[in-house]
Amino acid sequence: MNEARAWLGLGSNLGDRAALIGEAIARLNRAPGLRVVARSGLYRTPPWGEADQPDFLNAAVEVVTALPPHDLLGACQEVERALGRVRTRRWGPRTIDLDILHMEGIALASGPLVLPHPHWRDRAFVLVPLAEIAPDLVIAGIRVGDALAATERAGIARVEDGGPPA
Ligand code: ADP
Ligand code: MG
Repeated sequence: MNEARAWLGLGSNLGDRAALIGEAIARLNRAPGLRVVARSGLYRTPPWGEADQPDFLNAAVEVVTALPPHDLLGACQEVERALGRVRTRRWGPRTIDLDILHMEGIALASGPLVLPHPHWRDRAFVLVPLAEIAPDLVIAGIRVGDALAATERAGIARVEDGGPPA
């Protein structure tokens, strides 16, 4: 079977954020054709885009999958739906957000999917957890650790548990 590694970013800023991220990872790991092989710690990060909302918790995971890219996106969206993701305003609060940051050997922009994720190296809340599990990963010619070094990471803190629900 042809398997590829992929790296996903997770975020939550509504409800019991730590539990939601844990549950999302557990559900991903149970999805057919996919297993989670590494996960970062949890990071508390200031809201991005629109500031009038609770802090996020963010994490990153590495998965190994036999799924083609669009099916991997489908599996992520299935988990978002199962955990009550309601799409309201862009960049607004959400129970869970699952983004595919990178899939080994894949570069595409077709229909609803762009890989590598167009913003993978713009945002410290993506790079800090990703660099914890994959500092030497090279995405589009750029090492994750180097991308992180070039990013403003003020306000991001690793947390042992999620803290109180938002
Ligand atoms: P955001 O993640 O930017 O906060 P959403 O989670 O609502 O916003 O995603 C919007 C759309 O982005 C999704 O419906 C999906 O089709 C698309 N998308 C494009 N590329 C990717 C990717 N690499 N990972 C996840 N979603 C993606
Ligand atoms: Mg998303």
